[in-house]
Amino acid sequence: MQLWDYAKLSDDELLQRIESAKRKLGAVILVHNYQRGKIQKIADFLGDSLELARKAKEIDAPVILFCGVMFMAEMAKIINPDKVVLIPDAQAGCPLAAHASAGEIVKMRQKYPEYAVITYVNSSAEVKAVSDIVCTSANAVKVVESFPKNKGIIFVPDKNLCHYAKAQTNRENIVCWDGNCYVHDRFTSDDVKNACKKHPDATVIVHPECPPEVQNRADVIASTGGMYRYAQSHRGETIVLGTEIGMAERINSEFPDTPTFPMSKSAICSNMKLITLAKVARALEQDMYEVNVPQSVAEKAKIAIERMLEL
Ligand code: SF4
Repeated sequence: MQLWDYAKLSDDELLQRIESAKRKLGAVILVHNYQRGKIQKIADFLGDSLELARKAKEIDAPVILFCGVMFMAEMAKIINPDKVVLIPDAQAGCPLAAHASAGEIVKMRQKYPEYAVITYVNSSAEVKAVSDIVCTSANAVKVVESFPKNKGIIFVPDKNLCHYAKAQTNRENIVCWDGNCYVHDRFTSDDVKNACKKHPDATVIVHPECPPEVQNRADVIASTGGMYRYAQSHRGETIVLGTEIGMAERINSEFPDTPTFPMSKSAICSNMKLITLAKVARALEQDMYEVNVPQSVAEKAKIAIERMLEL
């Protein structure tokens, strides 16, 4: 069956196919918070990058189907190399990850030989392989603080998350890479102002990938996992989220008594949204697309990832 054949099926038919192929394969479905609502609903585990990485490490099933972008699926394969890792669309890359290459990091290391390289998970396996340690938006501050205060750091590739980590740790000796996420970097301080006007009682929570002026105007800065936990412990509160719209969709679906609004309805990651029910059904029935990472790269990248997971 071709993808267009799957696309002609109803959601109910696709869900039945997904369930039965999943059982046959013994697959576990991991889903990132930015996925479409329909994909969030088929998750065995739904979460942010850190939560998904931890989950990928402990999964015992033979197959992991990753509904997210490529670097996340690669990470699951690196952490749990004996498993078959599938991604429903091999084109689902992360443009932020494309902002840094391994060759550029090596050159930067030559320029700052004494500095440690902290790499955000939103990066390729090759970039992780030439880094000292990996971080997520949930633990970037903790990872920076794991180095002595006088140790210089090169922070790759998101400049806004780097700014956040610098501000939170009160360190100046951090060199920020010049990358950004096109979804979060587009938020402006006017977006926060307008959200406050529209929802005067709301708590505004923004992701640390947003620009510094947006972070400065927000009530809370948090990863998507942090946003979820905030909503969980503040039931009934109105919340505005400065992040990809999938997060508000999840919170509204799980906590209908906690009205949650995206700060901008156009904050959509088209890469995340490439995953559809039709592609998930095809992936499980036809074992596609299998994610593999060259062993020499995977071994080095694993060291940087494990260092983070051990913290
Ligand atoms: S939201 Fe931004 S960082 Fe996340 S996958 Fe999309 S482009 Fe990459």
